[in-house]
Amino acid sequence: MNKQTTKRVITLLLVAVISIGIWFFEQKSTTDVPKVFSSEFTLTVLGLDKADCIILQRGNTVVLIDGGESSDAGDVVGFLLAQKITHIDVMIATHPHSDHIGGLDDILNEESIAVDALLTPDIPEDEIADSVLVRNFNQAVIDSGVQKLSCEPGDVYDINGDIKLTVLGPIGKDHSDLNGWSAVVRADCGDVSVLFTGDTIVAEEERMLQNPQIAALLDCDILKVAHHASTTSSSMNFLKAVSAEIALITARADADDEYLMETVIGRLTELGSKIYDTRHNGRITCTQNDGHLDVNTQKTEK
Ligand SMILES: [Zn+2]
Repeated sequence: MNKQTTKRVITLLLVAVISIGIWFFEQKSTTDVPKVFSSEFTLTVLGLDKADCIILQRGNTVVLIDGGESSDAGDVVGFLLAQKITHIDVMIATHPHSDHIGGLDDILNEESIAVDALLTPDIPEDEIADSVLVRNFNQAVIDSGVQKLSCEPGDVYDINGDIKLTVLGPIGKDHSDLNGWSAVVRADCGDVSVLFTGDTIVAEEERMLQNPQIAALLDCDILKVAHHASTTSSSMNFLKAVSAEIALITARADADDEYLMETVIGRLTELGSKIYDTRHNGRITCTQNDGHLDVNTQKTEK
């Protein structure tokens, strides 16, 4: 099946997508995915240097969250192909910083990987500085013909009944810092829930906490800690609301910068989360076996 044909098919599949207004959130959001308690769930955080690339798989459904730096693209594409991932249902580009979208154009341009849909915040053009990075990404989006999805709080996407994505943020439209525009997305994979935060900021966390419908969805089993565990994010109130069993940090490789993570790691420790970071653990893989979440780490490869 060539890429164009695949895209037409996914257009039909995404008829199942439920994109709803925030006011109807409560009554509709629980109707989609049946509970499955023997899921084949895999979450992989690649062991990059302070850059996000995360792959979520359940059944035959694949969601990719960010793609590392441009310099990581070879490793990212190589990992996907080594895992025989030739099809991505939804690519999430949390925000247009190099450590998140840098490698995404190479994935979109890769002939042997079909990407069906792109979920990324609709940021006003004048908020994004013109750069080779952004131009390459935008061109790859155009060239690939990938379907762009709405990324407004309350949008819900049921992907093949395997993974349900719910957009929780960004709520605000007034951020001078692109990190504040980060897509915050909850993924429900059977009975496992994961919160992807990009590099969101404390002001957005406050908005999510103050919105009752959004706040009710923050409690998740696994948290991708925002902004590489820097204190621009991860207020104690937000971490308490999430109350994650497992916290995953895409950390800096430089030990001299480790102190930048200490405050947030202290909060997570106080809350009893099991903490993994890419500097110490390398590639991190979470799976679900017999109802339990297992975490495996692989330091020698990305
Ligand atoms: Zn980042």
